[in-house]
Amino acid sequence: MHLSGLEIFKYLPATKKLDHSNCKECGCPTCMAFAVKLSQKQVTYDRCKYMAEELKKICIKNMKAPQKTIKIDGLKIGGESVLYRHEKKFVNRTILAVILDCKDANFEEKLNRIRKFEIKSVNEKLKVDLVILKNSKNYKIKNLCDEIVYIDQEDFLKLALKKIVDNNFKKTANKLIETRKKVIIERDEKYSDPVYVYFKATQDKYSLCARASYYLCKYANMLVFEDFDESLFSTLITLRQNIYTDPQKALQVEPKIYEFNNPDENSIIFMTTNFALTFFAVANELEDLNIPSYLIVTPAGGMSVLTAWSAEKFTAKMVAKTLKKFDLVNKVKTRKIIIPGLLAQMKEELEKALPEFEIIVGTIEAYSIGDFVKKHIQNDTK
Ligand code: SF4
Repeated sequence: MHLSGLEIFKYLPATKKLDHSNCKECGCPTCMAFAVKLSQKQVTYDRCKYMAEELKKICIKNMKAPQKTIKIDGLKIGGESVLYRHEKKFVNRTILAVILDCKDANFEEKLNRIRKFEIKSVNEKLKVDLVILKNSKNYKIKNLCDEIVYIDQEDFLKLALKKIVDNNFKKTANKLIETRKKVIIERDEKYSDPVYVYFKATQDKYSLCARASYYLCKYANMLVFEDFDESLFSTLITLRQNIYTDPQKALQVEPKIYEFNNPDENSIIFMTTNFALTFFAVANELEDLNIPSYLIVTPAGGMSVLTAWSAEKFTAKMVAKTLKKFDLVNKVKTRKIIIPGLLAQMKEELEKALPEFEIIVGTIEAYSIGDFVKKHIQNDTK
């Protein structure tokens, strides 16, 4: 049972102005601050010796992971402890699996398509997670060396997983929601096995995709398909990326100098922060430009340029420090740095901090970089 900060506060001394109210022994300035932190699982209940017994019992019960985690090689299925992602995060992505019959006349062709399939996302190569092999007695699973996990169907069926066959959308959706609520809210152990939805082969790909997308959001731990379809898996993997990122953690890339199209000491230099979405937008444009360039990515806690600037994570001092760390002055002869258009107000400040460089205010949107370079940079260098 998840309690909000306010609900927890009702069990703490300060709510009735009892002894020890806001005593700070837990390390928090007030009982209310402790209640909020406890609700967000940032502290453990035993930091306060003065809470009501009833709350202590709830906390002890809550400490037990409600849903089991089932492991198949490196894959983890289940192990979720919240109903909504924003309460904490979802921990193990919905596994996307295909079942293949080794006796199927087209088995090799199907398997090759599955093995070949991959999509690239932020810093990741995404593939089908699991292949369940039917009639695999004479098939050497161990020889299939790739990132996909393979399991014999008989072994798969022995796992503590609950199966729901996708015969009726409403019933399946209700079963998934009921199961997750029972295990997370009521901590009912009868519902602690992770759940998978089994999809029979169908011609109606659109409906299949819509149903599978819904179950992925609420609350299937795994989806198993009799048929493999590249477009279906691309959609589900992309959707899954949005749900299983940690909402409290910014997506970021490593701060360093990135190189595009084999730059040398005369190549142009761009600058941005290490917010992954900004980085990939800029990086794609620079790659497509087909001219050699550098991109300096400054450490900004994964914040976008304007947010980083307002949070003082993108200051002239920090930029100067980053350039020094990467030894940019000795690495390139170019003395022009193009900064994001959103940071035009920093031009003067940056010029003072980086006297060796000319600061050029670039574009606000990444998609305009190509036109900007043609107009301002390439003409200058002719
Ligand atoms: Fe309140 Fe308990 Fe923390 Fe004291 S130790 S401030 S009573 S929560």
